[in-house]
Amino acid sequence: MTKSRVPLIMGGLVVVGVLAALGYGYTQYQAQSTPASTKPATAHWTYEGEEGPANWGKLDPAYTLCSDGSAQTPIDITNPVKKDIVDPVFGYQNGAVGITNNGHTIQAVAADGNTITLDGQVFTLAQMHFHAPSEHAINGKKFAIEAHFVHKNSDGKLAVVGVMLDEGSSDSAAWEPFVQSLGTVKGTDGTATLDWGQLLPTSTLTYQYAGSLTTPPCSEGVHWVLMQDVVQLSARQIAAFTAAYDGTDRPLQPVGNREIAVDVSGN
Ligand SMILES: [Zn+2]
Repeated sequence: MTKSRVPLIMGGLVVVGVLAALGYGYTQYQAQSTPASTKPATAHWTYEGEEGPANWGKLDPAYTLCSDGSAQTPIDITNPVKKDIVDPVFGYQNGAVGITNNGHTIQAVAADGNTITLDGQVFTLAQMHFHAPSEHAINGKKFAIEAHFVHKNSDGKLAVVGVMLDEGSSDSAAWEPFVQSLGTVKGTDGTATLDWGQLLPTSTLTYQYAGSLTTPPCSEGVHWVLMQDVVQLSARQIAAFTAAYDGTDRPLQPVGNREIAVDVSGN
């Protein structure tokens, strides 16, 4: 802090200390660099260059887990441990959704009342968004698109369901309303009608492990549920996704000593 920012001489260091404790100097500095009203709450980030994934952890004190975390996502699903996991129970509805282009992806914001039950715990669906190509790999293989269905329970714990979308021979009627929303430009709000349950593969077999958000702040403690079966969309539908956003896959992260469970029971 320079002397010119200290309005009082009396008290010397004590005054400086008190002002610093009150955040005075910090506020002054911010006022000179960026008007407070336009300063974002957290740092801007991207998928490439200086603000890309390798530097996320340095962009903002709130993002340190992106570089220092020990249970990060995405990972390559290899050598999973066979388990008889209780199948997730989807309580998904057919209804109106809000469509938002947030500058990183396009997301469908769910209305109240869509739930998933994981081993007796109920989580409520908040929103679905996508990454292109897929973020997770399964035995080293990536897919065209990965959709993330983000859920939260009453304790604030997150559970994310990942669904791989790949190119098949025909359109998916269920995904078409979302495909039609992919032209939504940033700063506008759209709406669509989605039959949420129809967006999922038929089989409820999953891989499950403990991971993180795949974007800053990379928060851990996320219960990951990856559907084993892939949903097929047409080439036209896949192209609509990648025309909106492409290269939005965070690099694979170390698995470390985490256990990846694979459900083999189908019940
Ligand atoms: Zn995601």
